[in-house]
Amino acid sequence: MNAKEHFDCIVLGLGGMGSASLYHLAKRGLRVLGLERFGRAHSLGASHGRSRVIRQAYMEHSDYVPLVMRAYENWRALEERTGLELLKIVGGLMIGGPDSIPVAGSIRSAQEHGLPHEVLDAGQIRSRFPPLTPPDDFTALFEEKAGVLVPEQCVETHLRVATEEGATALFETKVLHWKQEGSGVRVETDKGDFSCDQLVISAGPWASNWIDASLVPLVVERYVMFWFEPVDGSVFAPEVFPIHIWEAEDGVLFYGFPSQAGVPGVKVAFHTVCTVCTPDEIKREVSEDEIEQMRSYLRRYVPSLAGRCLETRTCMYTSPPDKHFVIGRHPGCDNVVLLAGFSGHGFKFSSVIGEVAAELVCDGETRQKIGLFSPDRFLRA
Ligand SMILES: Cc1cc2nc3c(=O)[nH]c(=O)nc-3n(C[C@H](O)[C@H](O)[C@H](O)COP(=O)(O)OP(=O)(O)OC[C@H]3O[C@@H](n4cnc5c(N)ncnc54)[C@H](O)[C@@H]3O)c2cc1C
Repeated sequence: MNAKEHFDCIVLGLGGMGSASLYHLAKRGLRVLGLERFGRAHSLGASHGRSRVIRQAYMEHSDYVPLVMRAYENWRALEERTGLELLKIVGGLMIGGPDSIPVAGSIRSAQEHGLPHEVLDAGQIRSRFPPLTPPDDFTALFEEKAGVLVPEQCVETHLRVATEEGATALFETKVLHWKQEGSGVRVETDKGDFSCDQLVISAGPWASNWIDASLVPLVVERYVMFWFEPVDGSVFAPEVFPIHIWEAEDGVLFYGFPSQAGVPGVKVAFHTVCTVCTPDEIKREVSEDEIEQMRSYLRRYVPSLAGRCLETRTCMYTSPPDKHFVIGRHPGCDNVVLLAGFSGHGFKFSSVIGEVAAELVCDGETRQKIGLFSPDRFLRA
């Protein structure tokens, strides 16, 4: 490839959001280049760990509901195009006290958007899903349409269809610097320089390398994923067991999945127990104390899973103070689109975020309602 080859658009970072953006930009007919510092669908960023929850009755804010509905459509379209099963429907339980975030937040979104759901009391939860043992004052929203995505498979699939649409993707190619040059953007990498009309930054936990913290403040946090050995694997099978998100009695949020074919153990993780880190210095080892801490919640709420921990892996959340995504034009550069701050709940949306990025680049605006995610909200605040 010639030094300083010119593209309509360059995508910096090919994880969850970048791989989807590359596909949608190429599908719109743009000459597009994707740059990734590591390999394809790697496990050093935020889009790995064998499973991600997708759900509709969105506990974080009801503005996410139309976006997630479009994400479902786009995952299904990708399945149709490739013949792969990417989204497995298993049902989902949001469990806690009646005022907890999972219960109150998901019921609010379900009611506001008329989403089908059931509200279960603790006895109903225990009898329908025997591995779960909520205390008597807990309740849950159950939604049939919740499911599981395999992030590595989704990233790989977006990369593959992007290339089929004519995109160029370079791996083991680290972006060192970008700057505005004339009406375009010059991007310097360790393999040479490129230029483009517009740049999409989808660098996940590395986003702070490219966005001044005074414009968009982002914190990176280390989370652990655990796979525990069940006493009886059959009761965790995806045909009978849903994804489940809890607010425990002490306010800690954790969640779990059904078992997956070929994966030893059943996955669980905290959503609020973490340590602040940097993406280049994250501690990858997981201590016995961390495993015991997870086990103590399982003993109380999913006791037949509180045995041997078979495997652990670390991953990173990247979050602004309000935990809402950061999507839109860079506050200082009109020809740069930011996709950042996906805060531990972004993966399910990647199929629509890529489409939004392509609309912003090609049309200057998007059909989706993204006001909640405006990058300049921090300046206004
Ligand atoms: C433990 C855990 C559980 C989660 N669970 C869920 C869930 O159940 N449901 C859900 O919807 N979401 C979930 N999330 C959140 C979701 O996974 C993330 O929001 C999403 O994957 C973020 O994607 P991204 O593209 O922003 O980041 P990444 O996938 O990390 O992509 C960023 C890419 O940029 C590349 N890059 C960075 N700097 C450079 C550079 N200088 N040059 C070239 N390339 C560069 C990186 O190598 C990386 O590949 C979870 C996250 C974690 C960590």
